[in-house]
Amino acid sequence: MAFQKTRLAPSPTGALHLGNARTFLLTWALARQQGWRIVLRIDDLDGPRIKPGADQQAIETLRWLGLDWDEGPYYQSHDLQPYFDALRHLAEQGLIYPCRCTRAEIEAASLSAPHAGEHELRYPGSCRPAQLVTADPALLGQPDLAWRIRVPDEPVEFSDRRAGQRRHDVQQEVGDFLVATKLGLPSYQLAVVVDDARQGITQVVRGDDLLSSTPRQLLLYRALGLGNVPQYTHLPLVVGPDGRRLAKRHGDTRIDHYRQQGVPAERIIALLARWSGLPAGDRLSAAEFLRHFDWDRLPADRVVFTTADDLWLASSPFAPPSSPFAPRK
Ligand code: GLU
Repeated sequence: MAFQKTRLAPSPTGALHLGNARTFLLTWALARQQGWRIVLRIDDLDGPRIKPGADQQAIETLRWLGLDWDEGPYYQSHDLQPYFDALRHLAEQGLIYPCRCTRAEIEAASLSAPHAGEHELRYPGSCRPAQLVTADPALLGQPDLAWRIRVPDEPVEFSDRRAGQRRHDVQQEVGDFLVATKLGLPSYQLAVVVDDARQGITQVVRGDDLLSSTPRQLLLYRALGLGNVPQYTHLPLVVGPDGRRLAKRHGDTRIDHYRQQGVPAERIIALLARWSGLPAGDRLSAAEFLRHFDWDRLPADRVVFTTADDLWLASSPFAPPSSPFAPRK
């Protein structure tokens, strides 16, 4: 079988929580079981949301849990040239165009237009030139000027290893999406495709909140003339009791928070293992998880994190008793 490669790609926008940790553990175990190489990539282009130090913290947390990788960490922010080369290529072909629309303008214009019902607004095409025109690449990277790609009117089809056969009408869902933002930076969609392609990623494994991004990324592969489109695997997310993606509203589920309380990594892996179809146990190392993890037993549904899980972690037989005088956060 040809050489395969995947990536762990944390965004340093905050500390890793139980949901991120489960996705990374599963990606890692799948890769190690299948003999894929693993790249660690820090997706740090999301301007204002990036938290200083969160990259090192994520790396440390992954190591503490017992995960490892073969290449990296590579930082997206360290060299923007490959993204601008890709943008220039798209601009020269007239496939992207500059856009100055504000969010309020898009909101107003798309009130009557259909959109995906997700967080993202559908772009109604206000700045789209009527014809394919070569955009001036000198304008790339200019502040206050975003860039959008012309999305065709036909559906994109692909097969996801877990979600199965998919068909998305990207034009209906989000319209001409951003490839560069008004901060003069490449968008998440563009950066991920450029990186996955140049890093030789053949297997993308990530949370299913990114499933709807995949057809956009496939359109970019096509527009950039990149071959070797990866195989995609979208893992069901961990959600709170309200069915929403695990977040602050569900309490402090950061791995570092449990670690500070004295909860050992093996206790956390044991919970993640129970969430991944392995028999429940009091503790488990990442290496043991790897030995026993069975892809076919991975639950098909999203995992619900409850306060019982939180109590179970904190009641770890290995944790020192918590002091009633500990400062409350
Ligand atoms: N960095 C992204 C995130 O943490 C993942 C990127 C990807 O897997 O495509 O959500």
